[in-house]
Formats: sequence, C-alpha cells, structure tokens
Amino acid sequence: MNPRNCKLCGRLFNYIAGPPYCPACKDDLEKKFQEAKEFIRNTPHATVAMVAEECKVPEKQVKEWIREERLIFADATVAGITCESCGEPILTGRFCVKCKNQVMNDLNGAIRKPEAPKVEKKTKDSPRMRFLDNR
Ligand SMILES: [Zn+2]
Ligand SMILES: [Zn+2]
Repeated sequence: MNPRNCKLCGRLFNYIAGPPYCPACKDDLEKKFQEAKEFIRNTPHATVAMVAEECKVPEKQVKEWIREERLIFADATVAGITCESCGEPILTGRFCVKCKNQVMNDLNGAIRKPEAPKVEKKTKDSPRMRFLDNR
C-alpha cells in the first residue's frame, strides 16, 4: 500500500505509478483527453488555449499531452508549441526533428567515445631527465 493524496481532488488513494491522480480523476482526465483529441481533429486551427477552454482543462495539462506526444496539432504555427531547444514551431513532443536528431547524435557520441582522462603535461627538458641520461 502506498496511500497518497490525489493532486486534483485531494482524496486519499492507493498510488501505483504515473501522475499522482486518483482513479476517478484519471478517468475524468482520460475523457477530457479524448474530447481534446476530437476537438483538434475537427478544428484545423486549434490552439492550446482553445483546447483548454473547450475541454475545461488547464493549458498546462494540454501542453503535457503534447509533450507526451499524445496530442498532435495540425498547424504548428497557430498551436503555439515550440521546440525546447531552438524555438521552432512544432506539432507535438518537445523538440523539432532537427533537434531530436541532434540529441540522438549527442547521445550516441557520448556512448561511443567517453571523455578521455586528462593526461598530465610532460615537460620535455626537465633537469631530472638530463641528470638520469648523464648517468
Ligand atoms: Zn482525484
Ligand atoms: Zn529545434
């Protein structure tokens, strides 16, 4: 048992995983998500604000659905969703295709070549070396 207070209604419930919402609120949110999806499908120029208004959910929740790539807007420039890296208008998710690829490359690069340990700078003409050579 892992009792928690629901973030939305404050009721105590047995928390399992995901966002800390009770089953009733989760159901409710799922219904609103379906509404939002339907609304966007029927409204080619829907914006985040319009979806929030239509489905009576906070804009933050609409943006979360977008970040999770559950909601996809038809027109990036009016939806008001931008790439978190370069600010380009995007349809869904967190990054534009370009930045997504960039992130993937960075990740692969980090795995392939781990940072080389710092090598201490050698002094070529150290007096001690000369001393050893002369012996
Ligand atoms: Zn609740
Ligand atoms: Zn980008």
